[in-house]
Amino acid sequence: MSEELMDNNKDRVESIENSTSTHNQKRKDYLPWDDYFMATAILSSKRSKDPSTQVGACVVDNHNRIVAIGYNGFPRNCSDDEFPWSKDEDKNSIKNKYMYVVHAEANAILNSNCTALDGTRLYTTLFPCNECTKLIIQSGIREIYYLSDKYRDKPVYQAARRMLDAVGIAYKQFIPTQKQVTIDFDLIK
Ligand SMILES: [Zn+2]
Repeated sequence: MSEELMDNNKDRVESIENSTSTHNQKRKDYLPWDDYFMATAILSSKRSKDPSTQVGACVVDNHNRIVAIGYNGFPRNCSDDEFPWSKDEDKNSIKNKYMYVVHAEANAILNSNCTALDGTRLYTTLFPCNECTKLIIQSGIREIYYLSDKYRDKPVYQAARRMLDAVGIAYKQFIPTQKQVTIDFDLIK
């Protein structure tokens, strides 16, 4: 065999070996479970029509199955076009959105697709308020991962932490392993 042919053969064998080894090994840059669940919470928040605050929540069981998803919005059949989105009015005014909005965590718990949430964990984009914390405790959720706690000093959130500490529900600020998760519909052909 000529030297040139031998070189060509060697290149071909190496190329086959490389492509085989690439396909025999798992991807290294796959999405870890926790990032996946928090990304799901964020994706859910994109459904919210609230002009100022979009919150998403995702509840997961011990088998890493998503059992509940929610975002902040008005109750079922209360029109997004008729009820007010304003938060500028007095909080006790019926023109204020706070009178009507169901929070993401509450929606997730109330719309869960399983009969019991005992022992599950919650991924939420914002630390839960006191009202959602009551539901979290009563539903049996045992762990909370949150992204933001920008309102931590407000009484509503202090009360939430007080209840969570009292009943021993763990809560932790979530640190993602990836800075970004891109969803580009054009990449799927
Ligand atoms: Zn809440």
